[in-house]
Amino acid sequence: MLSDSEIQRILVIEAHPDDVDFGVAGTIARWTDAGIEVVYCIVTDGDAGGHDESMPRAEIAPLRRKEQTAAAACVGVTDLRFLGYPDGRVEATLGLRKDLARVIRQVRPDRAVCPSPDRNYARIGVSHPDHRAVGSAALDAIYPDARNPYAFPELREEEGQEPWTVREAWLPGGPAPNHYVDVTDTFHRKMAALRAHESQTGHMDELEDFLRGWLARAAAQGGLPEGRLAEMFQVIETG
Ligand SMILES: [Zn+2]
Repeated sequence: MLSDSEIQRILVIEAHPDDVDFGVAGTIARWTDAGIEVVYCIVTDGDAGGHDESMPRAEIAPLRRKEQTAAAACVGVTDLRFLGYPDGRVEATLGLRKDLARVIRQVRPDRAVCPSPDRNYARIGVSHPDHRAVGSAALDAIYPDARNPYAFPELREEEGQEPWTVREAWLPGGPAPNHYVDVTDTFHRKMAALRAHESQTGHMDELEDFLRGWLARAAAQGGLPEGRLAEMFQVIETG
């Protein structure tokens, strides 16, 4: 696994606004504090989410982009790319692979974060079909599309996007975690980021207790000392 000191840029690819904050925000705050540049690529606008029946659906997408932008600021991220795919209907198409390969070539990250394409039978909510589709397309974009000059040759010929090799991928929420990041000291910023998704978390009175329990169990699973909180990942070498 690469040391954070070897990392200049990290690209976080997620399906919906708020996925990054539930799964990774505590770790991202540590990365940006260390001077690493972090960019978000959010595939859908989460326009099938929310609970407020009185709000016109057309207003959901811009609201959720705004909430995600505010949440990103809580953990030191200001560069967000929204791909605008329809929420709930994402498939791992060649078109999505190309769109993600383009973003990878533009951002040129050393490390990427993306959902797991595998269904986690222990935590069904984390295996939403959009998450699995984005995870599958993202890993295909990491290998081979972004690095292969002959994959989507128009990216290079028409847009001038040169091939790029991502050296490592981190998958939160997958069925086989092998790395645990202590987020005890950045937990308050993760909470602030989650609260910024007001349309999603405004009604969740138990959110902080729920998250503390969840992250404490991850810390215990990772062998961290009692009282610590952790986010967990399956780290894959992709270089
Ligand atoms: Zn999601």
